[in-house]
Amino acid sequence: TPWHATALTLFPEMFPGTLGHSLAGRALRDGKWSLDTLQIRDFATDKHRTVDDTPFGGGAGMVMRPDVVDAACAAALAAGPARPLVYLTPRGRVLDQGLARELVAGPGVILVCGRYEGLDQRVIEAREMREVSVGDYVLSGGEPAALVLLDACVRLLPGVMGGATSAEEESFSEAAPLLEYPHYTRPAEWDGRAVPEVLLSGHHAEVARWRRGMAEAATRERRPDLWSRRTSSVAH
Ligand code: SAM
Repeated sequence: TPWHATALTLFPEMFPGTLGHSLAGRALRDGKWSLDTLQIRDFATDKHRTVDDTPFGGGAGMVMRPDVVDAACAAALAAGPARPLVYLTPRGRVLDQGLARELVAGPGVILVCGRYEGLDQRVIEAREMREVSVGDYVLSGGEPAALVLLDACVRLLPGVMGGATSAEEESFSEAAPLLEYPHYTRPAEWDGRAVPEVLLSGHHAEVARWRRGMAEAATRERRPDLWSRRTSSVAH
């Protein structure tokens, strides 16, 4: 059975969104992965189909009710194989390539998309959700974060990238990765700017050395956090 994603959301029409296009979209149509959505509102029990309420302790905004979200989780789990539940939240572990790789190695994922101020803490704990953030900023909902996570996963599935790019060569392919070197294509001179000479030389070893140097320099300058992880893991 193909890798299967289910999104629990108040806005199912936001899926597959960007993932209906290009490589991910073709792979979806080819059945290399599958995606469905559950409308969280369908699991509300009152006649107004209420999914949120005011926060205990006061303060701004609304909180998504644990009973409603829990019922949606139960339905998602009942409909497919046991899959990890991921709650997209700025309080989570920041998504990285390692987590994407870990998730594609499993049967799929159930993604819980928050709205308002997010979920009642108790359903996060009761369902043992993995909390994942897509970065240190606040989105208005979990849906774009879920699409980002799915994009990172789906392109790693066998047969999806079509061999165009080797996943091994990309940024973040290792535990302590380097940022990628810069890319150039034709024309060899554009806007008064020449392509670096070495790339036109045909010397594969020199090209490789130049790329390696550029990757190291970019990582040192732009991402000292990645660079220090690298030097400390290489030194051991
Ligand atoms: N009150 C929350 C806070 O300050 O942490 C923000 C809630 S946000 C307006 C609504 C929903 O968007 C969240 O429940 C979460 O599902 C999603 N969201 C917002 N930023 C996110 C991020 N950086 N990563 C993942 N999900 C995010």
